[in-house]
Amino acid sequence: MKLKYTYPVLICLILLNIVSCKKRNREDEAQSSNNKIVKELHLGDSVKVNFPDGSINSLDISLKIVKDEEREALFNEMAWLFDVEHYWPYTIVLDLGKNQALDDNISMEVKISDRFKKLKKTTSGFEVFAQIYQDNANETLDNFQIIPSKYNPETGTILLEMPRYLFTDKRSKNKTFEAIIMIGISPGENPAFSVLQKNAKALTASAATSKTSLMDCEASPISCPLGLLDKCSELLAQADADDLFGVRVHPVLKYKKQHNGIDFKVKEGTPIYAVRSGKIKVSQFSNTAGNFIEIMHDNGNKSRYLHLSELLVKPGQDVLAGQLIGVSGKTGRVTGAHLHFEFYTNSSLNNKKGPVDPFPCLQEQNAAGSITVRDNGNWADDAFEVFLDGVSIGKTDIGAANSIAMNNLRPGKKSLTLKCVIAPDNEGTYEIILDDGLKFSDGSERKSGILQQSKSITWEIIIPTVIKTKSNISLMKRNDVKEGR
Ligand SMILES: [Zn+2]
Repeated sequence: MKLKYTYPVLICLILLNIVSCKKRNREDEAQSSNNKIVKELHLGDSVKVNFPDGSINSLDISLKIVKDEEREALFNEMAWLFDVEHYWPYTIVLDLGKNQALDDNISMEVKISDRFKKLKKTTSGFEVFAQIYQDNANETLDNFQIIPSKYNPETGTILLEMPRYLFTDKRSKNKTFEAIIMIGISPGENPAFSVLQKNAKALTASAATSKTSLMDCEASPISCPLGLLDKCSELLAQADADDLFGVRVHPVLKYKKQHNGIDFKVKEGTPIYAVRSGKIKVSQFSNTAGNFIEIMHDNGNKSRYLHLSELLVKPGQDVLAGQLIGVSGKTGRVTGAHLHFEFYTNSSLNNKKGPVDPFPCLQEQNAAGSITVRDNGNWADDAFEVFLDGVSIGKTDIGAANSIAMNNLRPGKKSLTLKCVIAPDNEGTYEIILDDGLKFSDGSERKSGILQQSKSITWEIIIPTVIKTKSNISLMKRNDVKEGR
């Protein structure tokens, strides 16, 4: 990735010097009682943290800037999901000691250096990311996501709110509550800009009321990662609160918790399909996500598929909507087998960036098609059986041209097998014609040849996302034909 920004040597030296700055922090009691800031923490001129009255009950607080390559690598891994152009290769760590924040209103001001400022184009904005520890009944994830912030160009500072869910004691070795902050530059206005309020309560309220609409899916639906929409709908109907996307109040700790995707509780071994066509960006293992796949879609949206048992695609590979990409499992930090699915928008049509609730975006996108098999021999005495992905979808009558109609076909690649079941002269002469926009993978719609009795031949066929016209050829219509899986 070309995201890495090499910070100038001079400033680098200064920053590396303050790896642990606790002793140098100026801890000032605020003079004004109007803003109710009872404590401030400084890191030179770079970072200032404001603690309003009642937000903390601990004095064991530290603030530092570190160069943490492992964390940087994690951020870099995720940065493309947010279209990050550059990032400041340092991590700001605010540690509250053994006590969790008592309120959602701690705030931080970060001064952007002139050198980093210069990397921002007029069409880009500064964006603040926090590593968010997400644990629910199904899994534990610990990923970066955008948090609301506001950049003041006059002072060159970013103001960000730090609600309690930013702090976790699950990462640090001595079980202290840490918040991890990184800063990036990405195209478009900071989506949080317009909703930033004076305190985080207003922020979380506005986040909770803004629901995903079809607009958030870039105005076109996505298909079910489990195949047919019915399968997704069925699982969502019986989903627990923890399975769904969104912000919830922790039942014990009483602060907001995040879940950036939907957990589909499918058993291990369930085929997983691309929800739109696109290019595989990531297909690898991580400790938390397990085997996971990330796809960049044609329109700049992204999708993620976590905890898989098998990865069937490689980075750089193009995939079609509905194409098999992996198999579900229970890899990574999970409590059981399920698919964690995330959908990310870009911000071209709406003012959102990052993960959105995929639920309203899930729509039926299945196609219909037909396959005609003709006995072309001199003697009309042969019969054939047709299989889709190894499952029989119909037989032809002896000596006839039969068309097999199919509904609910998932767009993507499938294998089509033709087997000669009856050929008295041992020469089953066939012609097979695809219709309704179905094509062989070489682009043709027609194949012909000879098959001996009980022999078969298999081709790869492509089921399009949009079926153009309906075919008239339907000598034998089978309503009970289902998709071949
Ligand atoms: Zn999940």
